[in-house]
Parts: sequence; structure tokens; C-alpha cells
Amino acid sequence: MRQAILEAPRRLGWRELAPAQPQPGEVIVAVRVALTCGTDLKTYRRGHPKLAFGPFGHEASGDVIAVGEGVTAYAPGDPVMWVQTAPCERCECCRAGYENLCRHLTDDMALGAYADAIRLPRHVVRRNLFPKPVELSYIEAAFLEPFSCVVHGWRILSRTRAGTQGRRTTPAASEAPSPWEEHTVREEARRADLPAHVAIVGAGTIGLLHLTYARRAGVAATVFGRGSERLALAERLGANAAVELGGAEVPEPLRASCTAVFECAGTVEAWQTALSLAAPGGCVVFFSGLPEDTRVPLDAGRIHYEEIACVGSFHFTPDDVREARTWLVAGAVPARELISGVLPLSALEDAFANLEARRGYKYALVPDGAPAEWV
Ligand SMILES: [Zn+2]
Ligand SMILES: [Zn+2]
Repeated sequence: MRQAILEAPRRLGWRELAPAQPQPGEVIVAVRVALTCGTDLKTYRRGHPKLAFGPFGHEASGDVIAVGEGVTAYAPGDPVMWVQTAPCERCECCRAGYENLCRHLTDDMALGAYADAIRLPRHVVRRNLFPKPVELSYIEAAFLEPFSCVVHGWRILSRTRAGTQGRRTTPAASEAPSPWEEHTVREEARRADLPAHVAIVGAGTIGLLHLTYARRAGVAATVFGRGSERLALAERLGANAAVELGGAEVPEPLRASCTAVFECAGTVEAWQTALSLAAPGGCVVFFSGLPEDTRVPLDAGRIHYEEIACVGSFHFTPDDVREARTWLVAGAVPARELISGVLPLSALEDAFANLEARRGYKYALVPDGAPAEWV
């Protein structure tokens, strides 16, 4: 099998590997599609504080080729979807309920989706591997990872209850609910903890996925981004307004109504803009990471005198992944709008060149020899 290796910033190599044999608890999957991701682009450009150079690519779906001893839920041929990590369940963060911050999160990840096949480690198989329903395309299924991150961001926001002063929460269900009812009740309770209007800074894939979540959750969203094409897509996907970043001054009534702001552009300026947009008593969710050791000067007056909560959102928990899967299966994620092209795996470098030139949002890589079309 062939696997892409990131050897250094902007240096991509390929290596041939013998077909992997699964160890106990592991699953080997033939990759049917791997998606490019902002994190991969960052790693490609400059390396990543949490990821070493080597095999990369983590948003994918495919068909099981082989299962290790003890795996009974899957068999060769099964279409599956997964995310690249799972918590250890033992460290202090896991035990405290912060599974997304697991100290061993990056110890044994399912990285290397830009390849013919990928090995899913035992803990990923146990917590974060799922059957792919037939109604879900492989490309849609590969959105599981980015959408899990987005779901997590909203969970973080609902915890702050920004902009919900004086609103009643939905009472919990009394009878033991079915899993779907449970999901709905949980969702409604969470919605009661959500503001009426959010601002989203950044109109890339992640910004637009946040917009998707907002619209489905009944929350109005204003998107701030760059470029008329991106802003037009934001409007098509239901943004109340799509505003050019750095353009005209943001009108005060709009600013005053953005109780929560998602920062999804990944620059120092975007972090500062996000804080400037939050209404008094509001919240900023810093969703995108910045290069290691970045310091961001923030307006202390706004944080203190206007009680703006500043919170980070990182990665996802298995609960977020399950919820994201429910959304995907319900057809809530506009994958077709966000995939800018389907390319053979060997054109991986072209996909990154396009992304660096801000051409397109996300590319789907399919095995060489397979038709380069929606799968
Ligand atoms: Zn990703
Ligand atoms: Zn842990």
C-alpha cells in the first residue's frame, strides 16, 4: 500500500508499505475517501505543535479489510467512519470528564489517511469507530471529525450560558427516554442555553460548519469573512448577514446583538476582531489554534467592564462524536457545498497548493484508479 508522508514543511513523500496486520483490538480499513483539513494545511505549511511530521491526513471513511483478535462488531467489507483519536479513560483529565483534553490524546492516533489503507488503534475502535449507514456517502461520513469539533464548540458555548439571562431551561424528561428522544431532550436543554444570535469570524469550512449548526439549532448567525464567493456561500447556507472582514465599521445594533462569537479564522487579528464583536455579557469561543507560543494582546477593558467570557474550544469528546454522527445521518451537513473537488490521492500536493492559494474549501482524495467523483 502507498502512504503519503509529510517529511518537512511543504515536502511530501510517498512510501510503499506491506499490508498491515491488525493487532488484537485493531481494525485495518481501505480508505475510500480522505478529506483535506485546515489542520493538515497548517501542518503542511509550518508543522504542528501537537503533531510530528510523518503520515498525515485524519478525515476519512472506508471499508474494513481486516479485524484483529477480539473485534466482533466489524467484519471485512463493512463500511465505516471514525475519528482519529480516543481518550485513554485513565488520566486526570479523562477522570475529570475532560476527555478532549486527555493527556494521551496524541499517543497513538489514526493518522495517515492519505493512503490506500489505515490502521485504527484499539482505543479508537472501542470508542470512536462506527458503521457508515448506506444513505451516507463516504465523503459525507468523512465530515465526522470536523463536525465533532464544531459540536464541541457549541457544547463549550452552552456551558457559559452567554446571552441566556432570564431564559427558562427546558425541564428534563421524566420517563426513561429512547436514545433518539434522549438526544432530542438533551438538544433542547442545550438550546435553552444558547444565545439568539452568534457571530462567526471566518467563512472557511469550519466557519460554515458552525453556521450549519447555528441554523439547525435555531440560532441566527452573522458571518464575517473575506471574499465575495465565500460570503455568498455563507448567505446561501442561511447566514442572516455575511460581512466583509475589515470592511466598513460594524454597525452598533449588529455588534450589540452578537452575544456569542466563534473565532474560526486562525489569526491574531481574528482573535482580536472576535473579542471586539461580542456584546456586553457575551462570550468569545476561540476555536482555531495559533502557532506555538503566539501571544495575543486583547482589550482588557472589554473583558472586564463588559464581562466578556473568553473560552477556548479544542478537539472533541466521544459524546461530541456521537452527536456529530447523528447530525450527519440526518443530512444536516452541507458536504456538497464544502467539497471543492474530488481528486486522485496522487494529486494530494495539488489539493494543498489550491488551499494555500485560497482556491476552494476542502478537497476529497479518492484512491488512484477509482473514478474521481462523489463517493
Ligand atoms: Zn480535521
Ligand atoms: Zn486520558
